[in-house]
Formats: sequence, C-alpha cells, structure tokens
Amino acid sequence: MTQYDTLFDPVQVGPVTAPNRFYQVPHACGMGHLRPQAHAAMRGTKARGGWGVVCTEECEIHPSTDLSPYPEQRLWDERDIPALSLMVDAVHREGSLAGIELVHNGHMSGNLYTRLPVLTVSERQLADGYPKMARTMDKSDIRELRRWHRTAARNAKQAGFNIIYVYAGHEMTLPQHFLLNRYNQRTDEYGGSLENRTRLIRELLEETQEEVGDTCAVALRLALDENLGAGGMQAQDEGRAVVELLADLPDLWDVNVSDWTNDTLSSRFEPNEGAQVDYMSFVRQTTGKPVVGVGRYSSPDLMVKLVREGVLDFIGAARPSIADPYLPTKIREGRIDDIRECIGCNICASCEGFGVPIRCTQNPTMGEEWRRGWDPEVIDSKVSDASCLVVGSGPAGLECALQLGRRGYDVTLAEARSELGGRALLESTLKGLSPWKRVVDNRLYELSQMPNVYMFTESTVDADMVTELGTEHVFVATGATWRNDGTGRTHYAPMNWHKSQEILTPDDIMNGVQPQGRIVIYDDDHGYMGGTLATHLADLNPVFLSTASIVAPFTTFTLEQDKLQSELTERGLDLQLSAKICDTEKNALMVSSVYGGTTRTIPCDTLILVTARQANMALATSLREAGHAIDLIGDALAPGLIADATHSGHLAARSLEESPSKIAAAPFRREMTERPYPQTTPYLKGAAE
Ligand code: ADP
Ligand code: SF4
Repeated sequence: MTQYDTLFDPVQVGPVTAPNRFYQVPHACGMGHLRPQAHAAMRGTKARGGWGVVCTEECEIHPSTDLSPYPEQRLWDERDIPALSLMVDAVHREGSLAGIELVHNGHMSGNLYTRLPVLTVSERQLADGYPKMARTMDKSDIRELRRWHRTAARNAKQAGFNIIYVYAGHEMTLPQHFLLNRYNQRTDEYGGSLENRTRLIRELLEETQEEVGDTCAVALRLALDENLGAGGMQAQDEGRAVVELLADLPDLWDVNVSDWTNDTLSSRFEPNEGAQVDYMSFVRQTTGKPVVGVGRYSSPDLMVKLVREGVLDFIGAARPSIADPYLPTKIREGRIDDIRECIGCNICASCEGFGVPIRCTQNPTMGEEWRRGWDPEVIDSKVSDASCLVVGSGPAGLECALQLGRRGYDVTLAEARSELGGRALLESTLKGLSPWKRVVDNRLYELSQMPNVYMFTESTVDADMVTELGTEHVFVATGATWRNDGTGRTHYAPMNWHKSQEILTPDDIMNGVQPQGRIVIYDDDHGYMGGTLATHLADLNPVFLSTASIVAPFTTFTLEQDKLQSELTERGLDLQLSAKICDTEKNALMVSSVYGGTTRTIPCDTLILVTARQANMALATSLREAGHAIDLIGDALAPGLIADATHSGHLAARSLEESPSKIAAAPFRREMTERPYPQTTPYLKGAAE
C-alpha cells in the first residue's frame, strides 16, 4: 500500500476498462500516416511505461480533411487500417487501451494534397493563409460528414481501438466550429441556439455509439474555454451549458482549454502544474462519466489530490508522457525522484509545425523508439573496461555522462565553471525559463547515485591534462559562445562598432552583466533568445530591433510567439521589426528596413547582440593536434537547441564501442513506401505499356 495506490485503480469507461488512471491524451507527434512503424513503437513505449490509455494524434476521417503537409493519422478508408493496427497492437501488447481521435478539421485543413473543396460551418477563409474560401456545408454535406465519421469509427473498431473520439477542441475541428458562435452563422437547425450549435456533436456521439458502442467507449474531447473572455466560449457560461446538455452521452469527457497555444501553454507562460483545473473542475459534478484533463502533471501528490477531490478520474498527459514515458511505472515503484520532468519548453510541439518526428529536450529517446531502437529506460551494458572523460557539463555533457554511467563505464566529468549545468543552468536564470533547470537537476540527481561517475567543477581541461589522464575515450562537450561581432543571418561578416557603445551578448547577460544607459537588443538570430532577453530586460525599456518581421519567429513553433509579442507590446517596448543595423556612430545606430529605403537613427549606449553562436572548438582542436581521438558532441559540434545537445550526448554514449561500420551503414531505419513498385503504372489512359 502506498499513498499513490488510487492512481492504479482500474477505471470503467463505457464497455472497456482502463488498467489505471494514467491516460496519454491524443497528441501530435509528426509521425502520423507517413511513419506508422515509428508511431507504433513510440506509443507502445508509453504503454510499456505504464500509461493505461494511449491515444493517437488526430486522425483524418476523409480526404476533405487533409492536413498535408502535417503528418496526422489517416483513416480515409479501410486501407488505412493495417497501419493503425500496428499502433493498437503495440499498445495492447503492454495491457493498455488504445484510443483514436477521429477528426474533421473543416477550414483548418487546406486540402493542399487532395485539392478537394474545403468545408466549414459558415463560409470563411482557410485558416492557414492559403487564399481560398471554405464553403458553407449544406444539409447533404452534414449528412455526408456524419456518414464519414460513422465509417471511420467502424474502421477504427476493426483496427482494434478501444476508445473512439469525437473531437471538438483546440479551435481545430468542425464540431467545435459548429459550437462556437463566432464561426457559426447558420440559420438552420444547426445554428442559433446553443442546443442547435451542439446538434452536430450530439449526432456524432450518438451515431458513434450506435456503430461501435457495443465494444468501444466513445469519448468527447471538448474545449470548455478559449481564453478570449466574452469574445469566445467561456467555461462558466456556454462551456458548462454544453456539458449539462450532453452530460452522460459520452462515455468519457476529455476536457481542456482552446486553442492549442492555450492548452499546451509553455512553462514561460504557465510555470505550474494543473493550470486548467479552474476551468474544468465542474465537469465531474455535472456528469456521471469519467473525466480526463491535462495540466503538465508530474507530481503524484497533486494527481492523488485531484482524484480524491473528484476533479479528475484520469490523469491526462501529453508532455509529461513525452518527457517520461515511464512516469507511471516510476510512481508505482515509489521512484518519484527518478521522474524526468517536462520543462515546458514545447520543443515537442514544434515538430508538428516542422512536419518531422517528435523530439523532446528532456527525453532524447523520444521519436527514436523504432528508427534507432531506443527505450528511455534500457541501454546496453558496456562492452569493455575502458574509461571515459567528458569535458563540459552542459546538457550534452551531462546526458553523455549519464548514459555512459548507466552503461557501466567509469566516467570522469570535468567542468571549468564552479557549477555544473552549462547553458541549461545559465538560460534558466532568464525570466520565464527557470523550469529549464530541470534539465540539469534530473541528470545530476541520477549521476550523483552512480559510484562509477566522478564529477569535478572548476576543472578546465587542456590537451596536456587529457594526455596525462590517459582516458581511453574523450567526449568534448565544450559548448558554444554567442558572437559579439555582429555576424548573423543578415550580416555575413563582422561589423564595426563605434567605441562609445558597449557591446554585450546573451552570455554576458546570463553571467550577470548589467546593461547600462539606452539599450538596444538586436536580434538577427530569430530563435527564442532575442525575445527572451527582451522580456528579461523589459524593466530597462530596451529597444527591440530585429531583422525578422515578427518577434522571435522560431517561437511560433513552440506556440509562444503571439503571447511573447503581446507581452512585449503590452509592456510598451519599442519593437522595431524588419529592421537592420547599417552603421553606427557616437551613441547611436543607423538603421534601415531590411527591404531598403531611408535610414534612421536610434540612440544606443549598450547594444546586445543576439546574432549567432560559435562552437567552442579550442580544446577539440588542440586535442586533435596532439593526436587524440575525440567525440565532439552538443553545441561544440553544432550549436543548436538544448534538445539537440541532449540528443547528441545520448547518441554518443549509446554509440560508444559500437561497430563503426554498423553506425555508418544504417544510422537509423527509414520507413519506405510500398516495395516492390508495380512494374507498370497505367497513369495515362491509352499509353503504351
Ligand atoms: P552543450 O549544450 O553542448 O552541453 P554548454 O555550453 O551547455 O554546451 O556547456 C559547455 C560547458 O563546457 C560549459 O559549462 C563550459 O564551462 C564547459 N567547458 C568549456 N570548455 C571547457 C574545458 N576546457 N574544460 C572544462 N569545461 C569546459
Ligand atoms: Fe516537455 Fe519540452 Fe519535452 Fe515537450 S520537449 S515534453 S515541453 S521537456
């Protein structure tokens, strides 16, 4: 008996029973119909880690909801069943239930691949900027939609799914668009009153029940609130009314806040777990059916509290299940300190926008389950008694040392600074990024348990020292430095500054240098650092000058951009966008639009350059010159995200003493489209074969 036992109670959902309360809600993963084997292995790993329910991402039910180029799941017809069955089987093998989130995205889908007309509740532009109108669905379209949904549910059942969703959330789906006043301008029985606007959801729920309800549970994913105040749906008003209207119709309520950027809030904007409780705590009292909700839950005490207080039946998770697929097992085994906590950076979510397989800052095995065969908790033992030296304790060095330690190698980790953690530690001192320190804390906790790992601070390593130590394997993780010469995306070569100006970089700010006088932050990098420094230094009222047309464009992918730019705007910062520095003069910068035109002058005493990073190669170069074979990892290899650094460190540790020919021959497996190709393709009627 432990205080967490209730989290492992089985829960009845319609005709099926979940083995525990850990529920991986549907989440995007950049795998979808393009990478079914990767998808199956990734979801299967979560089931192995103890998640009692594991769901797909959204799954298109028809070619008229074609999300290309984003790789979602697809169940357009029965030919998609085998690919989805792979995932079901992987989840079932571990004793968990598999859920599928059927979707029609209406005007959120561009149909760029299928070129079919786009359907919506009331005529409007496509959401993705493609200059085309989505047309109002007439009654026969609605009947067709219901038929497609019913067929997809039948096919999902045949694929083996246990929980089948009707999806009305994230501002991304037709059933929600029908529900929302601002989208629904219909005058028929699907428009007007809330009851009418809820009609489509009700019909989809009833018909899915009818079609598959004998063996499958039918879940409703509903956004209760949109964080738009009176301009959108509010949990205490129509959100509550919809739950009252549908009360016991779904077998399961999966409730959250819309849109995606509000549901998957980064830690910068919501540092705490359980951010959605206030919106959804009424649901459990309004329905007799189980409720699942998310809130970046990693703390078992809070999970138990929410179950005991009758707020949640299931602990929903996307990001915590990505950062630690074995979170439930660790709680069951009382290994709470071993949980790898999500830092809320949203790098996982960014992969959806890039259309590539998911990755995670904290969990470098995420997305690599099938193509590299990685499991976060399993790693091969060492193959020799060789000793290892890891130089640098940033995310790459820490991860590399940790995995080498787990393999059983003797590891020395040497760090020049007085504290371990490198850039992860430094960046966590910036406003909003304190949760990023978990990258360091989680790893240091594990490393400190390992008798075969020796960690040294204030130890600057040079080539002589490496020779003297005689360590067989040397991993150089010396990181990168922000450039102070202006070279960046727009400026191909160093710039000259007037000597009246103090030039600082993000490294200076993170090391405690206080900028003085009139400050200009110059972002020619376009990652997250420029915008982060602007919020960090906002009290000093800096000018934010960027060659990009929006603040910190990369943060669009981490779902933060609009919130970041709104915050800076509300704080009254002077945002000078699409602007570049042409020249400098005494205490001033000459600036023009990146598109040309006249120059203007901006007063500037301190210029903070966020332009580019440069790998710290001095040690690697001198070691190579001295004849040492080294493994260069992390930012010292290629400055990138912290997620790139942890992945690089992990890969190096797994690859140690692996046969080089094996690594070179197949760095990872690829999903190939159907082989062999047919010998003839009758693509042109009448063409000679
Ligand atoms: P990464 O993201 O690749 O892990 P970081 O910049 O976070 O890189 O970390 C690099 C770390 O390496 C820093 O903490 C830095 O102090 C340390 N370092 C750099 N050069 C040396 C050296 N010669 N000896 C020991 N530590 C070093
Ligand atoms: Fe959490 Fe970041 Fe990993 Fe996503 S990428 S699960 S936000 S740590």
